[in-house]
Amino acid sequence: VNLCFAPYLDQNKNIMGSICVIQDITKHKKLEEMQKEFVANVSHELRTPLTTIKSYAETLLNGAVDDRQIALDFLNVINYESDRMTALVQDLLELSRLDNKQTKFSMQCINLSHIVESSISKFQIHAKKKQQEMVYNKTDNDYKIIGDANRIEQVIKNIISNAVKYSNEGDSITINVYEESSYVVVMIEDTGMGIPNEDLTRIFDRFYRVDKARSRAMGGTGLGLAIAKEIMDCHGGHINVTSEVGVGTCFYLYFPYEA
Ligand code: ADP
Repeated sequence: VNLCFAPYLDQNKNIMGSICVIQDITKHKKLEEMQKEFVANVSHELRTPLTTIKSYAETLLNGAVDDRQIALDFLNVINYESDRMTALVQDLLELSRLDNKQTKFSMQCINLSHIVESSISKFQIHAKKKQQEMVYNKTDNDYKIIGDANRIEQVIKNIISNAVKYSNEGDSITINVYEESSYVVVMIEDTGMGIPNEDLTRIFDRFYRVDKARSRAMGGTGLGLAIAKEIMDCHGGHINVTSEVGVGTCFYLYFPYEA
């Protein structure tokens, strides 16, 4: 709380009383702390790949370059870490544009079922590689919504990609599109590792991951769900999740229905 006192004077400058201003700055402080934490997170996330790149490059320069196999292995690591940094910077720029309302959405009447189908087709190969079954329960309904097709595809692909990433070999992923009150819902359910209850509300926070090492190993930036949430907000929709450890996770994307 901020407290501020000032004397209250009449026309002849006699003190008549005092004025006290009490300001609740909880929100301001919280925002300040969140900003500090975000900058610390960004620095850390960028420094990790940079440290790896630097140390591998130094080792190469110090002689490792003469062994062809070692040199190739090290260059692969450098290449991988550079890709990770690029992905991170891209996600950061995207979030910053969304925060500043600079993202241009091309809003049109679109068929959500088509977008779901095209997103699924892009992940069939990844799922097959992990012997995962991807089931889409197609209906005859054409679910038309108002939105930016590319952005919506980006959200759906992100959730499907997570379902593949955080599920094991032989698991299955089920996708349904249906109508619920005034929304069209895209449901993406996996039989993967699940998310502990205490982490469930935080996974949409920037850089929050249940298992940092696993997310990084999979090439994740920890920003995908934060971006997805922002994009859903911009469409007047929202995103929900339910999960049970060892059983699986289910994401629900709610889009306002323009039937
Ligand atoms: P990341 O780049 O780490 O995947 P996201 O923002 O996409 O970042 O997801 C945040 C975290 O939520 C992930 O690190 C993971 O711990 C958890 N998560 C997301 N989707 C799933 C899922 N389908 N099953 C289990 N955990 C998930």
